[in-house]
Amino acid sequence: MAAGSVGELRRQALEAIDAAMDLEAVQAARTTWLGRKGPIVDALRSIKDRPPEERRDLGLELNRLRDELEAILSEREGSLEEENLRRRLVDERVDVTLPGRPRAIGGPHPLRMAEAELVRVLRKIGFSIVEGPEVESEYLNFEALNIPEDHPAREMQDTFYLRDLPGLLLRTHTSPVQVRAMRASAPNPLRVICPGRVYRRDDDVTHSPVFHQIEGLAVGEGIGMHHLKATLYEFARQLFGADVPLRLRPSYFPFTEPSTELDVGCPFCHGQGCRVCKGSGWIEVLGSGMVHPHVLREGGYDPERFTGFAFGLGIERTAMLRYGIDDVRLLYLGDLRFLTQFQGSEA
Ligand SMILES: [Zn+2]
Repeated sequence: MAAGSVGELRRQALEAIDAAMDLEAVQAARTTWLGRKGPIVDALRSIKDRPPEERRDLGLELNRLRDELEAILSEREGSLEEENLRRRLVDERVDVTLPGRPRAIGGPHPLRMAEAELVRVLRKIGFSIVEGPEVESEYLNFEALNIPEDHPAREMQDTFYLRDLPGLLLRTHTSPVQVRAMRASAPNPLRVICPGRVYRRDDDVTHSPVFHQIEGLAVGEGIGMHHLKATLYEFARQLFGADVPLRLRPSYFPFTEPSTELDVGCPFCHGQGCRVCKGSGWIEVLGSGMVHPHVLREGGYDPERFTGFAFGLGIERTAMLRYGIDDVRLLYLGDLRFLTQFQGSEA
């Protein structure tokens, strides 16, 4: 290679590097011109074939060219990397002053709020929670609770029976849990509440096929109506306020004898009479009574020695009364316009 052709080599290399517009192209030019198979290395290798007097100058020129190209390429790479970084900083810029996207924070459902409130009050009075299965035996749901075969509550139109599982049904009340709890603790005294989901074939403004109940049961020696009354009054005052008018009214349930219902003074009209209380000034909140001897026996207690009281109420009804809701179906629709009205009122 003649000394003049190093100048030509330089011209071509500079032109190629100049044409490389991005980092990739510059790196490709580096491989082409300075790589082990590139023309400069090639020329350096062939120096040994030159006449001895030319070798030194040619070697110097080629080394100088290699260093020059190396410096130019490094500089181009450096500035392109810098430019890439600058572009990314602009393109991927995050505007920290933009308002955030608010994340909706849920809250407890009014049914859950009412249940939690009932449980809180009853636990304070001294009851502990027990739970039972929603698929229940016909026996525990009815017979054990003194509801005989011919009782109207057992008719097909009221109860969901399981077609392929004879003897089983969807429990129509939480009362079978009372029998289970008695069997688990007899002959020791017990005080339990059983909250849970129950099922009946009902569907209108005040009834839903799935609804929630909570029941209470106390069994021991020497338990009387006065204990029932004191417990219910304390419970109702905690729930509806210390000044709420209360009354017990005789009633009938198969599993209690005697049976009674608790009414509270209508919170909507304060006893004046309104649509909700149907003009009576009173609203029925729960059914109760002294546990029937048949039920005590089914629970494993000797009714000659043990007595007990029980009460039960609907959680939907309590929620409707506490929050002034007039259609039970609102509780199941999942409509946020309805549900968000109760956020923050659980305190
Ligand atoms: Zn009223």
